[in-house]
Amino acid sequence: MTTNRKPNEKIYISKTVTLPRLNRLSPSLEGTALKIMEESGELAQAIGKFRGLSGEQQRLEEEEAMLMVARELVDVAQTAVTMMFVLEEQYGIDLEVIMQEHITKLRHKGYCD
Ligand SMILES: [Mg+2]
Repeated sequence: MTTNRKPNEKIYISKTVTLPRLNRLSPSLEGTALKIMEESGELAQAIGKFRGLSGEQQRLEEEEAMLMVARELVDVAQTAVTMMFVLEEQYGIDLEVIMQEHITKLRHKGYCD
């Protein structure tokens, strides 16, 4: 197996998330913040309740529960992306700058290369 990498080239592993601007809604900062909390709660429910972690009798099979976890996680990501659009469009925040600051912070903390 061959690669096109140079000998000392660093590999940055990342995941790119592309989610749509919800152009049929008129979200507000407060509305999207509440929606993030709502979806986070649904994610927590999928992780805990549906897997019977607190002794619940009705629980899902692990594979089904993990699919729910993944779906709720994407819901959280969608609401976060929606809030990013709100910050850009309604408050003039440059999310590209914020993203670069975020990556720099993670590297400074030693969480990634
Ligand atoms: Mg949901």
